[in-house]
Amino acid sequence: MTNLTHPLTKELINWFSKAKRDLPWRQTSDPYKIWLSEIILQQTRVEQGLPYYMRFVENYPDVHALANASEDQVMRTWQGLGYYSRARNLHATSKYISQELNGVFPKTHTEIEKLKGIGPYTSAAIASIAFNEAVPVIDGNVFRFISRLYGVYDDIMKNASRKTFLSILEELISNEFPGDFNQAMMEFGATVCKPKPDCASCLFTQSCFAFNHNKQSELPVKIKKLKIKTRYLQYFVLGNATHVLMRRRKESIWQGLYEFYLSEETNEDFVVPEFLKNIADKLVERYSTKHLLTHQKLMITFYSMTINDENQLKAMAKEHDLELIDRKEVLNLPKPKPLVNFLKETEF
Ligand code: SF4
Repeated sequence: MTNLTHPLTKELINWFSKAKRDLPWRQTSDPYKIWLSEIILQQTRVEQGLPYYMRFVENYPDVHALANASEDQVMRTWQGLGYYSRARNLHATSKYISQELNGVFPKTHTEIEKLKGIGPYTSAAIASIAFNEAVPVIDGNVFRFISRLYGVYDDIMKNASRKTFLSILEELISNEFPGDFNQAMMEFGATVCKPKPDCASCLFTQSCFAFNHNKQSELPVKIKKLKIKTRYLQYFVLGNATHVLMRRRKESIWQGLYEFYLSEETNEDFVVPEFLKNIADKLVERYSTKHLLTHQKLMITFYSMTINDENQLKAMAKEHDLELIDRKEVLNLPKPKPLVNFLKETEF
């Protein structure tokens, strides 16, 4: 059985108690708030996620409050943070916990992992931090730290490699303070054993494989390269002085957010949509931007066209699954970041 007598575990937890950043979710054992922080911080830096966390806790202080909010409210609170499926899952799971579980959060990582939008990492984080269950978390920081410390050359992009890392962590994890241990591992990877490690201030140089063999830059092994795909999007802002055509997206990226009429092309050449061809001379190019997602680079151009005839707008709305929206309302709708920027940068 492992416990604090393992020298590394002891040193690491001691280090964490002194070095840890003072963050609001570290001052609570409320699983709801820990869950919120974990979801917000996925793929997001602490500095960026912190104000969102504060806003969520203020707007929705408990799981019932989040469950009772409308989807639009939740999406607006989330707006700008990206990966919107996180917000939708958060909302769906809050309803499930509030209505089906009477607001009581499940207490083990196996039960927590069954909730929508929660994977092995988040379930282990919540179970260890809120319920003291000795189950290790693995994120990119932990992979890096452990692979260097122990000289593990397994490709961290392969699922099978998790087992190797898990078995090491299961040996190390503190049964008394599993939440602190997990947070300490991640924090150490994030602040000392960084991609460019700060070995000069590291406590583990003596036993570290990478340090002693000068292999810091080779570890962790990460073979699968992410291919970035470039997509070309054209938005058409069609409307009159008071109204504009928009639709609520059903597609996976930005699902549930509002956008203008969109056409996607295979390259950056401008193509007029079929239904605008006979009035194409009224189109004006307004704004271009580049937007990066994990696997995609979006090249986006906005065009606008004034169509004074309301009946023509209504016909377009009907034909293309759009809604006629009051321009004053547009600012209040949840929208993808590039649209928010477009509204900010142009005289919409
Ligand atoms: Fe990471 Fe360097 Fe410490 Fe090894 S000595 S664990 S490479 S920071």
